Amino acid sequence: MAKEYSLVPKRVARIETPLRRMVTDFPVPESIPILEKLQAYEPVAMRGQPPVVWDRAEGFQVYDAWGNQWIDWSCGVLITNAGHGRPEIIEAVQREVQSKLLTNYCFPSEIRARLAEKLCAILPEPLKKVFLLTTGSEAVECAIKLCRTHGIQVGGRSKHVIVSYQGAFHGRTLGAQQAGGIPALKEWIVNLDPGFVQAPFPDGFRTPDTSFALFERTLTELGVEPRNVAGVLLETYQGGSAAFAPVEYMRALRQWCTAHKALLVCDEVQAGFGRTGTLWGFQHYGITPDLAAFGKGISSSLPISAVVGSPEVMDLHPAGSMTSTHTGNPICCAAALASIELVLKENLAENSRKLGEVLHRKLNELARRTPQIGCVAGKGLVAGVSCVLPGSTEPDGDLAFDVVSRAVEKGLLMFSPVGFGGGTVKIAPPLVITEAAILEGASVLEEAFREVTAERAAA
Ligand code: PMP
Repeated sequence: MAKEYSLVPKRVARIETPLRRMVTDFPVPESIPILEKLQAYEPVAMRGQPPVVWDRAEGFQVYDAWGNQWIDWSCGVLITNAGHGRPEIIEAVQREVQSKLLTNYCFPSEIRARLAEKLCAILPEPLKKVFLLTTGSEAVECAIKLCRTHGIQVGGRSKHVIVSYQGAFHGRTLGAQQAGGIPALKEWIVNLDPGFVQAPFPDGFRTPDTSFALFERTLTELGVEPRNVAGVLLETYQGGSAAFAPVEYMRALRQWCTAHKALLVCDEVQAGFGRTGTLWGFQHYGITPDLAAFGKGISSSLPISAVVGSPEVMDLHPAGSMTSTHTGNPICCAAALASIELVLKENLAENSRKLGEVLHRKLNELARRTPQIGCVAGKGLVAGVSCVLPGSTEPDGDLAFDVVSRAVEKGLLMFSPVGFGGGTVKIAPPLVITEAAILEGASVLEEAFREVTAERAAA
């Protein structure tokens, strides 16, 4: 059973630094009516994250209405790459609102043209066409549709298999969820499409064999013939753990996809827009996928996502057959354009790379002192600290939950991916964070680990 956050306020240490303030009990007593209202009117499934009632967020800080202030290591789950509440994004949105064009669906608009052009300008060949959507799941669904359409065209109807990875997360809609590699999240589907299969993800931790031969062997074991594969879909790094695949594996996969006329799809919903220390996550592998899906950090704010690919693939469907009501909504386009401008102008990918080195150094030091940390994965300003039962790779989800709770009570906002069973403490600050905030956050995380593990040992 996944743990749940208590709504009973408890006394927590008062903290006052330039970056963190905890001046109330936690959860804040005055916030309880709001939290109770949410519990009354929203499904239980919405209770996954710490009970901090956000009031305002700026840069790398989140504030509540009662004087508490957090260093944000969540980005609201990887959204605000350019920082929270950036004036440049707010002004762009305000300008667009003032222009009185709030929506136009698939009728043309100048701002949608500008965003499509911008994305294609900054993406490498052959990713030169873009379809704007609203959520990451929707972008993944569209990528799956394009893989299958392409597969059927080049190899007939049997070429429809989508290979993805164990432990993967691509969203909660029917296709995206089936491509996901967490069996518990798919139980409700019952009639799983046999055209979705998963291979082990070569993370070098829970899957020690990181050779590409494992991919080919898995397909053989599953009875999937390479010529029937329409597409291989993977998160550029796995969201549940922040693990990357080895470069040689990805290069071999790129070649395999080309040789078998299967499209390679990188789900960059988390990895895009500077998060990992390069503008695009797939740059770490020295490859370019045939399709990529973006979301979250594309706008640092409003809901917008994108599928990008070569004209050959993106143009497979005729006029009017790939639509979505909020495609390229003008306000969302304004937010995305402003956010992308900030990521580029302030070279936030480089900030991510530089500060990522500091973050990972601190996390690795912590891991060496903490037997309950199995591994630290990630690159740039994304990290996953895997909590394990000491001496094993068995995830300790309760420890991750307790450490995140304790850190939040100390003014460091984080999350642990819920429902993944991976026991990961996930770290993903806005890319505008400072070195001082990384170092202060790292010492708070260390305190949280120390306190929680000592309390467990004493219990
Ligand atoms: N792909 C990845 C890698 C994700 O992390 C997520 C969301 N966590 C999604 C797809 C789905 O995006 P959305 O929630 O916007 O549908």
